[in-house]
Amino acid sequence: MFEYSTDGVTLREGGDVTLLNPAAVALLLPPGMDEHTPTPVTLDPDQVLAWYHHSFHPDDAERVRLAIEHLALQPHGVYRSHHRIRHGDAWRWVESVSVNHLDDPGIAAVITTVRDITRMKEAEAFAAAEVKAQTDANDLLREASRIKSQMLAMLSHEFRTPLTSIQGYADLIAEGMIVGDEAQESAEIINREAKRLNVLISEMLQVEQLEQGDYTPHIERCIPRAVAESAVRMLAGAWPDRVVTIESTNADTPVRTDAGALLQIITNLVGNALKYSPEGGSVILRIAVTGRQLDLQVKDHGFGIPEEDIERVFDRYARVKSPATAKIQGTGLGLTIVRRLAEALGGRAWAESTLGAGTTMHVTIALAD
Ligand code: ADP
Repeated sequence: MFEYSTDGVTLREGGDVTLLNPAAVALLLPPGMDEHTPTPVTLDPDQVLAWYHHSFHPDDAERVRLAIEHLALQPHGVYRSHHRIRHGDAWRWVESVSVNHLDDPGIAAVITTVRDITRMKEAEAFAAAEVKAQTDANDLLREASRIKSQMLAMLSHEFRTPLTSIQGYADLIAEGMIVGDEAQESAEIINREAKRLNVLISEMLQVEQLEQGDYTPHIERCIPRAVAESAVRMLAGAWPDRVVTIESTNADTPVRTDAGALLQIITNLVGNALKYSPEGGSVILRIAVTGRQLDLQVKDHGFGIPEEDIERVFDRYARVKSPATAKIQGTGLGLTIVRRLAEALGGRAWAESTLGAGTTMHVTIALAD
């Protein structure tokens, strides 16, 4: 059996010598030997050590060697292992089973049989990769389907409201039911609602562009505090009774960054802080430049975001469902734009919030040289 077995067989006799049958030599190749070496091959303990280091994968050699040493002290013990052995420049997987027969007077050896299982391991790895690819594809599909249904929910609400109003006023004017000054006012409403639709479409297109990584920052010199003041001035029109306090540190000297992106980030965050706070809530905008980094913080004392939604609110079309905010208009795109712009400018965006107490939004940006 030892001589003719197609499995590699090694015999460790009394701990002094190890014999290898022809199949073991062909499979395990100790240093300086090849398939044509006359067999059985006899290795003394030093040669066995060299053989482990030469033929066994560095991650496996010590584990297997120590396990076989240990097995020699356990009468009738069994040790099974899957490990890699050298084959030219590559590695092969083998399955080995070692049994301690040292106490068995007819055998008096630790016998190890070794079988090449490379094909099986490759098939397993291939199957695992296939399963992973399938799981990843399913995850992507699920995510795409989630985005699609949230987008449709947003479209059916945020697009329909201004369209209904545009259509209604246009009909009334066309039928001559509104005339004079009132017709003028209706035309202004139509114009405002059409502008709102335009902004919605621009946001949707911008998010897609940012998600594709298809955005190149336009770097220019700007004064961060001036950008912040400009954003707050624009929002003051829509929120005349609200106070936004700007606190700045080192933000009065010019820096190099994408001023348009910075303006949009501040407008979205301060706009949210105002929108998601009850009447009279004040907002603090902190802007600080430290070396090559710009830090923004927008703090409100508004409705807050539930803990489980704190990361999700940065996803496309994601909105928090709560009775306090149900009537507030929005697309769920503002924070996605903030995060993607911050990332494109070498920074990040995140939220801290306590439900019912308020929210602080953080953004960092790496300034250009
Ligand atoms: P939108 O405001 O258009 O819905 P955003 O992407 O800007 O979209 O925000 C996503 C969601 O995160 C909002 O719908 C809201 O539920 C929540 N949110 C954002 N900012 C705040 C804030 N300052 N306070 C409370 N909730 C907020």
